[in-house]
Amino acid sequence: MCGIVGYCGPKKASEVLLEGLKRLEYRGYDSAGICISDKGKFRTIKRKGKIKDLREIVPGDLEGNTGIGHTRWATHGEVTDANAHPHSDDSGKIVLVHNGIIENFQTIKNRLIDEGHTFISDTDSEVISHLIASRYSGNLEDAVRESVFLLKGTYGIAVMHRDIPNKIVGVRNGSPLVLGIGNSEMFIASDVTAIMAHTKQVIYLEDKELVVITPDTYKTFNFNEQELQKKIENIGWDLEQIEKDGHEFFMEKEIFEQPESILRAFVGRIDKDGATGHLGGLNMTPAELLNVKRIQIVAAGTSFYAGMVGAYLIESIARIPASTELASEVRYKNPVVQPDTLYFVVSQSGETADTLYAMKELQRKGARVLGVCNVVGSTIPRKSDGGVYIHSGPEIAVASTKAFTSQITVFYILTLILARMRHLSFEEGLRIVSALERFLENLKKFFQIL
Ligand code: GLU
Repeated sequence: MCGIVGYCGPKKASEVLLEGLKRLEYRGYDSAGICISDKGKFRTIKRKGKIKDLREIVPGDLEGNTGIGHTRWATHGEVTDANAHPHSDDSGKIVLVHNGIIENFQTIKNRLIDEGHTFISDTDSEVISHLIASRYSGNLEDAVRESVFLLKGTYGIAVMHRDIPNKIVGVRNGSPLVLGIGNSEMFIASDVTAIMAHTKQVIYLEDKELVVITPDTYKTFNFNEQELQKKIENIGWDLEQIEKDGHEFFMEKEIFEQPESILRAFVGRIDKDGATGHLGGLNMTPAELLNVKRIQIVAAGTSFYAGMVGAYLIESIARIPASTELASEVRYKNPVVQPDTLYFVVSQSGETADTLYAMKELQRKGARVLGVCNVVGSTIPRKSDGGVYIHSGPEIAVASTKAFTSQITVFYILTLILARMRHLSFEEGLRIVSALERFLENLKKFFQIL
């Protein structure tokens, strides 16, 4: 899943899109493209390769204030200019960008070919534009809604119609999409970093939700056409946090940020008087925490390793049986949920697909699932039964560093809480608290001399 940016407003859309796509580069991609609605015409520029290569072929006279952009990470069809997004239908009236995978695309494609449609790419995404065009009879939202009902798979999509110049429709299922609310300008993006330079007011879409933006308005709907009143969230990050700030690589910058990020995971969460920790977001009473007989941590990638450390800490210090399991296994295996087991899902982004789906399945089976996440307002924190933010600030590098150490910090505090409720004495608790404090001081010194 790669990047989406959409813009409606007074600025030159191509600039907003190229800058937004640039900020999504860190996710990795193989091709990029934009489509701008320019004086009643669609102008699509796309190619395989980097954003800087794309910028070179964007004509200087590309005006237009509404547009969509994409960075592709190919899943269906080779890395070619033709397979890059945006994609269009035969008439060129519908244009869209898509993140995700449409599993039943071949069946739909065959049917559309029988109906006379011609395809020019090998992607699964192109079928969506043809499908929307085939359903369109004057209302873009309706055509999108009717079309996505037929799709099986995951998608974050941004769509435009040539004859409706200042409007973008976005729809989400299993692939993140966020709406950015500006001053007489609106944005759609797959990731807030793409639009943070312009606005910090965002609305996160849930699965099976649709958004319609114009420069001055936005409306959100569920798939049953009911309009939703969704909460506007404020992105708590500053723009400098997503810049390299003198470092050659984001990863290097994030390694050096560890003293502050660990401190943020720690601060306000130690109760020295009680020689224990305090994690308010767990949403559990001490009595409920005392009843926990087993802890299961579910995660993927680096978060899985942090979860392993967490399980070792909990088992060895709090003496509660604890284990870690890969989210991709839990998601597909029909897990057994026991009422006295407490589940933690760990994800830096809060959007990791396997972890999210594993969490949903565990919740369906009655589990209480708590999140350990970084991105405030992302899906896992919103859908879990409680949890802890690690407050690392944006982690742009794909190889996780500061989020990993902050996740472990949170597991230390959790372990302290659980252990103190059980056998750990006040004095022993205090020893752990002092050791953690000493660790923080030494960490700061260590990074100062580097
Ligand atoms: N499945 C689509 C393709 O291969 C979208 C991939 C992506 O999410 O970038 O073009």
